[in-house]
Amino acid sequence: MSDNNIHKVIIIGSGPAGLTAALYTGRANLKPVVFEGLQPGGQLTITTEVENYPGFEHGIMGPELMDIMRKQAQRFGADCQFSFVDKVDFSSKPFKIYVDSKEYFANSVIIATGASAKLLGLPTEAEYMGFGVSACATCDGFFFKDQRIMVIGGGDTAMEEANYLTKFGKEVTIVHRRDEFRASKIMLDRARKNPKITLMPNTIMEEVLGVNDNGKKIVTGARMKNVETGKTFNMEVEGIFLGIGHKPNTDIFKGQIDLEDNGYIKTSKVNTNTNIPGVFACGDAQDHVYRQAVTAAGSGCMAAIDVERYLESLHE
Ligand code: NDP
Repeated sequence: MSDNNIHKVIIIGSGPAGLTAALYTGRANLKPVVFEGLQPGGQLTITTEVENYPGFEHGIMGPELMDIMRKQAQRFGADCQFSFVDKVDFSSKPFKIYVDSKEYFANSVIIATGASAKLLGLPTEAEYMGFGVSACATCDGFFFKDQRIMVIGGGDTAMEEANYLTKFGKEVTIVHRRDEFRASKIMLDRARKNPKITLMPNTIMEEVLGVNDNGKKIVTGARMKNVETGKTFNMEVEGIFLGIGHKPNTDIFKGQIDLEDNGYIKTSKVNTNTNIPGVFACGDAQDHVYRQAVTAAGSGCMAAIDVERYLESLHE
């Protein structure tokens, strides 16, 4: 294999982490190749307005922000490809990355495959996503001032999101499919003590209700079912938040690099190193704590700088 066929760096994923890594490695003249994955632009492309990304005083639409990030990286030579990586082989160098069984080689790899919010899988949930249905309270809570909000889930995410959403909504109902909550006692107690929060156990959502007026979609409520009695009923709410957990998109790395028990990639506490020298990870694929666009972008920058140093060290 000639050196011409070996990329200096391949970036897997195209959310804020991947595209920031592409920008920095592009400016460092490393000619990054970015395999964008199944959801080019990442999770922000399924949200509407982003008001907490610094630099946009009046907010910006999620898809537009990601489009700008891609163009900014491309300006410095990033080769962004709408391709999905289905396999990797980090057992020897150069590293091998497979896209539709085509083999690519790289001296370094940045993993920025992100995480996906778990969804219920209802057709109406997908239809109203970003228009009243959300999987991120920090991103979208602000849009529900003085409105009625439902949070689905019985774990710490649901409790935290519900507490946070009481800053905006006039009432928040936590809907959980069982009567026992998985959440830690302290988080559950906090939710119980919050006068704006009502717990609704043994209940599931069967359908999001709303109006679709010439493309302008608005959530008006949900059809619910009490799983003990089997009775269905309608609930009037303007906001529906899914708090049923996240799943890191790391399945293809199983057996290749060290993962935490919950599937997140293990990285060093001080940099973006994985256990394989030359393979770095950034963004939500390795962060289940902060999960913000700006923290993902920051760690993408770190990964790019770590790659630069790593490649330089190969020539020392
Ligand atoms: P969890 O897996 O702990 O909880 C998910 C919840 O969603 C469960 O109650 C589960 O119900 C419910 N659920 C899952 N799928 C469905 C479905 N299809 N329909 C209805 N309900 C569903 O995920 P979390 O994101 O809450 O927490 C993940 C980890 O992160 C935990 O370790 C948690 O402690 C931690 N965390 C910590 C925080 C903090 O300390 N500030 C904040 C947020 C998370 P069931 O119980 O019936 O399975």
